Amino acid sequence: MTERKFKKQLIIVTTAVMTATAVLCAVTVGMWNYLYKKAHESEHSQMEAEAQEYKQQMLEQIDTNIQILTTLSKAYEASGVTDRPEELELSIGEANAANSFRSLAYMPIGKPGILNMRNIDTKTDFRLEDCNEYAVNAIERAFKGENAISKIFKSEMADVNVFLYCVPVRDDGEVIGALVASNDTKIFNDIVENTTVIGGKGYIHIINNSGKFLVRSKNTIVKENINTIFDGSYLSQTTRSAAEDALSNGKSLLGEFKYNGMSCHFYIEPIGLNNWYLFCANQVWGSNVSWKNTVWTTGIIMLIILVMLLSVMFFGYYSFFKNTKFLIKDLTYDSITGAKKVYSFDRALNEYKSMNSDYSIVALNIHNFKFINDLFGTKGGDDVLRYVKRVIEENLGDDEFFCRDTADLFYLLMAESDEEIVKSRIGKIIERIRTETRDAEYSYEISLYAGIAIRGTNQKALLALKSLKNIGYSNIAVYDNELREILGRNNDIERYMHRALSEKEFKMYLQPKFDLKTGEITGAEALVRWERKDGTLISPDEFIPLFESNGFCTEFDMYMVEQACGQIRDWENSGYKPVPISVNQSRRLFFNRNYANDLGKMLADYEVDPSMITLEILETVADSGAEEISDRIKELHEKGFKISMDDFGSGYSSLNMLYKLNVDELKIDRVFLRDAGKNNDRRNILLEQIIITSRRLGISTVAEGIETKHDNDMMLKMKCDYGQGYYYSKPISIEEFSKKYIRKAQ
Ligand code: C2E
Ligand code: CA
Ligand code: CA
Repeated sequence: MTERKFKKQLIIVTTAVMTATAVLCAVTVGMWNYLYKKAHESEHSQMEAEAQEYKQQMLEQIDTNIQILTTLSKAYEASGVTDRPEELELSIGEANAANSFRSLAYMPIGKPGILNMRNIDTKTDFRLEDCNEYAVNAIERAFKGENAISKIFKSEMADVNVFLYCVPVRDDGEVIGALVASNDTKIFNDIVENTTVIGGKGYIHIINNSGKFLVRSKNTIVKENINTIFDGSYLSQTTRSAAEDALSNGKSLLGEFKYNGMSCHFYIEPIGLNNWYLFCANQVWGSNVSWKNTVWTTGIIMLIILVMLLSVMFFGYYSFFKNTKFLIKDLTYDSITGAKKVYSFDRALNEYKSMNSDYSIVALNIHNFKFINDLFGTKGGDDVLRYVKRVIEENLGDDEFFCRDTADLFYLLMAESDEEIVKSRIGKIIERIRTETRDAEYSYEISLYAGIAIRGTNQKALLALKSLKNIGYSNIAVYDNELREILGRNNDIERYMHRALSEKEFKMYLQPKFDLKTGEITGAEALVRWERKDGTLISPDEFIPLFESNGFCTEFDMYMVEQACGQIRDWENSGYKPVPISVNQSRRLFFNRNYANDLGKMLADYEVDPSMITLEILETVADSGAEEISDRIKELHEKGFKISMDDFGSGYSSLNMLYKLNVDELKIDRVFLRDAGKNNDRRNILLEQIIITSRRLGISTVAEGIETKHDNDMMLKMKCDYGQGYYYSKPISIEEFSKKYIRKAQ
């Protein structure tokens, strides 16, 4: 998983957690709302039930008092005590004392009555006209034969709110007066104040039909000093109208109001007496907790949960990331140089290409990096890679990038599609590295080479780069039509090589080798020519390097040995004296443990003596695995083969190789004979020394590329043993060779 992908997932998880928390918040708020509504409803019904109960209690209390008066009235009627004023006065005093009235009076119709006030005195001239209008009204109703309760009024004598119970007193069935008892509203207070409704949170008041408080609980919710429920501004207009309607029509009503930020509800219940109503009010459950507080509390709880969840997640992320960071980094960046890896380069490249069409890919490689590693050790090699990385970095623009692929291969993206500009920029990088390393303390000049693919791919840039290995002289190659053609041809070669081998299209040509002193032929080198069916001839330079890189050379080289053996057998069978043949062998063969055995078998099959076959190996064969190659040479020697070292002096480890590998012949590379120019003397000293050293080591020497008589004479003078080159003969066909150089055996 890439870091970007990982972060994306983290965002998804975080969003999911946040969403879950939000849902949790909503559910909590919803539940709170639901509870609130339920509580509200249950409070309403409780308030209604309790109001009914208080109403019942009140009515029972009043009824009891009416009963007491009725009993007394009945007793008076029976005893006729109303005609005996003193006795009557006494009786009223006693009756009042025995009951819980505030005062008790007998009021005859049309005459003054007797009034006993508890703990005060008895008045005998109690007159109707001295009474409060509510009292008069009730008494007069009693005169008409009705049990009456007066409205509440203020007693001037006692300075308290009172009301009267009035019961008619009869004589022979006819009303002659009324028994009148007063109670202060304390008896209601007991009801409305002793107990509050709804578990102590609500209050009950008695009001009349115009909303006036007759008995107002002291612990009222509305603290203001008001006379009616309509005073103050806490009832809304609609509620007010509903309340007015209920009060004027003797109906009960459930309603709501807001007071000092509190939500309250109320219940009006007609008592069924004197237009009295119970007015219950209480605070709505939970309404003292304001919404703001609720939201805050819920929010804080949720925040704590969220923080906890996120901490767990981030802890998980942290430990996961810590453990995988290395992995992610390792996938993205190269651990040696810190440059991008090819994988992230390709990703960045795709992104870049989607937005820009002007770009080039450059593949950059270090010449002989293997040698640098040998010379300076792996650590030194790594330093060189880091140094190259730094120089590349400094030479790229902000929107350009690069990576290290494997070993010493770098890929660069340049935001440029002009071939000349790209070449010059790369040239500058190569030149800077070359001069800086030449001047550095270890003074080893590091040279780079590059393949450029304008608007191309890594592969094309790499193909361009690889094409340089064969060209050798230039250090920058561009993937162009010419290269495409070469690559196309290589493709063709690879497609046809197997068939060409089985159909014997590879023909062995021979180039003679002469003894420089005697001028006699001493052998020949087998050089291949590919004769296509259409008659075209392909030179080995075009396909041998390809066979070496694709591995086909092992099969091919054995084929050439077989051709040589076959030829020697032919000559012998035809009675001719054969010459030894040298066959070029690629280094891969030397890593095959069965190589010597296979060769031995082949020669045995053709009945050819191994001394007739010389195996030419390139001096670069010893670049790695010299020990194994040395073992192989030993095995070949044991079988009787001769080993020749080809192109001696062209690689960097020539002398090293001479020391390590026990060879029989040195073929001095033909470059020694070409273009020596001013350095002729130096070259000659070197050549002479190589020849002398070889002789001392028991190694014979062959000069390659003798093109002129001068070359011939010079090499003879230097005591080189043999010569090979165009001066004597080009590589020629078997027929021609046989005709020219093969003689009958004596
Ligand atoms: P090489 O092994 O160094 O072979 C000698 C090359 O030098 C031959 O090129 C030959 O034609 C050329 N030559 C000979 N005399 C002269 C001269 O006086 N002047 C110049 N300029 N060149 C001269 P050729 O035949 O084109 O082969 C090229 C290379 O291909 C060979 O270099 C060898 O490395 C490889 N090769 C050729 N045939 C075979 C083969 O059968 N097997 C393998 N493995 N490699 C082969
Ligand atoms: Ca050769
Ligand atoms: Ca050679």
